[in-house]
Amino acid sequence: MSRVLVIGAGGVATVAIKKMAMNSDIFNDVMVASRTKEKCDKIVGSIKGCNYKTAQIDADDEEALTKLMSEYKPELVVNLALPYQDLTIMNACLRTGASYLDTANYEPRDRAHFEYSYQWKYKDSFEKAGLTAILGCGFDPGVTSIFTAYAAKHVFDEIQYLDIVDCNAGNHHKAFATNFNPEINIREITQKGLYWENGKWIETEPLSIHKTLNYPNIGPKESYLLHHEELESLVKNYPTIKRGRFWMTFGQEYLTHLRVIQDIGMASIVPINYNGQEIVPLQFLKAVLPNPQDLGKNYDGETSIGCRMRGLKDGKEHTYYIYNNCKHQDAYNETGMQGVSYTTGVPAMIGAMMYLLGTWKRPGVWNVEEFDPDPFMSQLNKQGLPWHEILDGDIEFEK
Ligand code: NDP
Repeated sequence: MSRVLVIGAGGVATVAIKKMAMNSDIFNDVMVASRTKEKCDKIVGSIKGCNYKTAQIDADDEEALTKLMSEYKPELVVNLALPYQDLTIMNACLRTGASYLDTANYEPRDRAHFEYSYQWKYKDSFEKAGLTAILGCGFDPGVTSIFTAYAAKHVFDEIQYLDIVDCNAGNHHKAFATNFNPEINIREITQKGLYWENGKWIETEPLSIHKTLNYPNIGPKESYLLHHEELESLVKNYPTIKRGRFWMTFGQEYLTHLRVIQDIGMASIVPINYNGQEIVPLQFLKAVLPNPQDLGKNYDGETSIGCRMRGLKDGKEHTYYIYNNCKHQDAYNETGMQGVSYTTGVPAMIGAMMYLLGTWKRPGVWNVEEFDPDPFMSQLNKQGLPWHEILDGDIEFEK
């Protein structure tokens, strides 16, 4: 019997839990714990015949986590709360002998900056304890990293150029909304851009580099260079990469709203005093924006996320594009959530499955590209995220 504790009850967790229940031969003993227990009860209650347990937990509180985990004794903890909780959950895993999986790297609350160093520091402790930590197992990071590992294993002897392209061509029919936690999303997008070239990181002004790219089944979309966390581990694990970049599409309407939000100070993470109470403007903004979990119903269109690569095989240069397209309405019909929660929650469930089956069980702290991509890739096709590949097509990027 494999016992799994899922932490968080947002859009991503909802999808992961529903997909776990669809694979109940593997996920037969699951507890869902989050800050608001009613949300856990609501998810479990919406799954017919589901016997998953629920609990209240503040995952910022390491002692409370340790107590809950000592009682429930999970073999694996799937962290689908927010990046702020990564380290307290990893600490509690070490204290209680549980393995760990997440979809986003640690971020300190008071500094909008993400890097893996905080979590890579746990490598020795997890290894000594005989526990596995799987980092970044959503879509990006996650599937994009696994696509890269698949290309390195089957397509290239040497990957030299990597462009990760993330397009959301969906329409939720709201004036402004984010597709996952607004606070985390806006912190990410308003950061400076960063890409890897010839052995060093190059910083750019936020959203200053952009280019029109054509996406399969969608067409041309303006795509903006961003810093994205998987680049950090990919250029380390594939040192032949000469240039690694990440691109995401945004519509003009979204960018105009974002600029206004920043100009009026609502994207700030510096606490202010309002009528005797300390508030963080961005957290207040999150409270008034649409909840990403409620966007699914009227969301049409689709996402297209993939990797465009150039490299060498047997001394000859090739290009390779591997991607998944996901329709928001298909995601909603299956799980009640929109495509961005779906494309993150499904890989989190598959990563947990890989661990429980023993395929991805290896003491230490690992980014997903460090495991065998093949069994994960075959599950993507079975679990609702089929992928497609184009060899030697036009990847729209020069060397
Ligand atoms: P949501 O905001 O919808 O959900 C977050 C959940 O975590 C909520 O249920 C929230 O509780 C709970 N939570 C927050 N703080 C705590 C705490 N201290 N203790 C216990 N529970 C807590 O976010 P999403 O579902 O959209 O995103 C979840 C994660 O997935 C995020 O880390 C995000 O960065 C990541 N992500 C990764 C992607 C990828 O491709 N790799 C893409 C998209 C998201 P409450 O309901 O009470 O607020």
